[in-house]
Amino acid sequence: MKYNEIKNYLNGEFVSGEGDKYDIYAPINGEIIGEFKAATKVQLDEVVAKAKVAQASWGSLTAKSRSKIIYNYRELLIKYREELSIINCEENGKSIEEAYAGVDKAIELTEFACSIPQLISGKSQDVSRGINCKEEKRPIGVVASITPFNFPVMVPHWSVPNAIALGNAMILKPSELTPISATKMAELWEEAGLPNGIFNVVNGGKEIVEGICDNKDIVAVSFVGSTPVAKIVHNRSTANGKRVLALGGAKNHIVVMPDANADAGSRDIISSAFGMSGQRCMAVSVLIGVGNIQKVYSEVIRKSREMIVGVDIPPVITPAAIKKISDYLDFAKEAGAEIVLDGREALTDKGYFIGPSIIDWKDIDKMSDEEIFGPVLEIRHANTIVEAAKIQNKSPYGNAAAIFTQNGRYVDEAIREFQAGMLGVNIGVPVPREPFSFGGIKDSKFGYGDITGVSSINFWTNLIKITTKWNPEHKVDWMS
Ligand code: NAD
Repeated sequence: MKYNEIKNYLNGEFVSGEGDKYDIYAPINGEIIGEFKAATKVQLDEVVAKAKVAQASWGSLTAKSRSKIIYNYRELLIKYREELSIINCEENGKSIEEAYAGVDKAIELTEFACSIPQLISGKSQDVSRGINCKEEKRPIGVVASITPFNFPVMVPHWSVPNAIALGNAMILKPSELTPISATKMAELWEEAGLPNGIFNVVNGGKEIVEGICDNKDIVAVSFVGSTPVAKIVHNRSTANGKRVLALGGAKNHIVVMPDANADAGSRDIISSAFGMSGQRCMAVSVLIGVGNIQKVYSEVIRKSREMIVGVDIPPVITPAAIKKISDYLDFAKEAGAEIVLDGREALTDKGYFIGPSIIDWKDIDKMSDEEIFGPVLEIRHANTIVEAAKIQNKSPYGNAAAIFTQNGRYVDEAIREFQAGMLGVNIGVPVPREPFSFGGIKDSKFGYGDITGVSSINFWTNLIKITTKWNPEHKVDWMS
């Protein structure tokens, strides 16, 4: 085993869990590359109590002092970019290029956190003669972040650097499928000089998530994962009085107009649908052709057929993910759809590989709302943008939607009609870059605000309003 035992990081110490043992599999060959023992609820509660003490000191520092440590951490992310990317690649199965991209995005997110002292200056105004009001953004306390398997480095960086820079103590609960990157992050925070107890990693599954939702000293939770679990975490944590932002699953749509650039458009569409084996919450799952889109359609199919499994298409995360994709292809076939490309032809004994699949629903309205989260592209057909938008709007999710066209009027119409938090024009993965924030709507997000950017500053702070009066000679009426 390359990684041996992966430890929890509790109050500055790497500690074995006292709960169930989990094996960590490499999706590329199905071999065990490490193991860990889950932290117990007792271990969680103990570390939260210690984090609470540590946070009192950390939160009392100025934002400028804290940002020095965040800056050190950013330097270490650059120094260990290669090692972190290799870990990311091995535990998740993604290509090394995708792993580099994830680490680079983590660096960009950390740079945003370094700039927080510049962003949190509050407002101040003399609201009356001798009376001043000002605002301050203060830390909220011990907070938690629960993350999914698909971006083991990038997604924790949506929440961890900002929350810490803003003076909070963080409990990170990574996916039990990909916990190794989080251990490396702990090493880097330690080397950066972060005081003990401010960044902690608790490993485990459902039980430890429930422990986080129930612990009264954790005041805020950010969650990223599937919609059913996002709902559970949102409901259980808010019932315990916590602030929660829970990002869920997605089924994203791209509307293609007849005038779309066939070569560039098809390249972008298949990269969105099949890149990272479709395991991105921003991946396109449904292509809706408006009118005759034969040129783009044939190019999408031609280029998809040329994709090489194992080179262009990495493995999916588990054998269960392969079964889910296979069951969906059976469902679509039975419902009357045409399976234009069947990824099951690429199944192998070694590793969790499956090729790209394309399902054409023709004029059948039986596509399921279910998120497949694999390399599957479904094709729908419409006569107008309004008809296409109706298909998009019917989805319970609202993460991303895009249109491919050369015509500005089509763009205006589509942007008006789409129901999704992140919209794109001629771009397959419309992820906003820093400082713009990331977040969907509908069943892709529970809670208010976005997880990154300026929006996250409000999530990780309390806004305190301070009124001062230095005019005892003035009349009592403070409204004057
Ligand atoms: P998941 O929901 O299975 O797991 C996410 C986290 O929840 C993990 O840490 C896991 O340990 C925990 N968990 C799982 N089941 C639980 C349960 N029953 N009770 C309590 N906790 C539980 O998600 P995943 O499979 O790791 O990741 C893929 C999903 O994440 C997809 O649905 C994808 O769309 C979504 N995702 C969304 C975004 C976004 O920005 N909206 C980003 C990345 C991934």
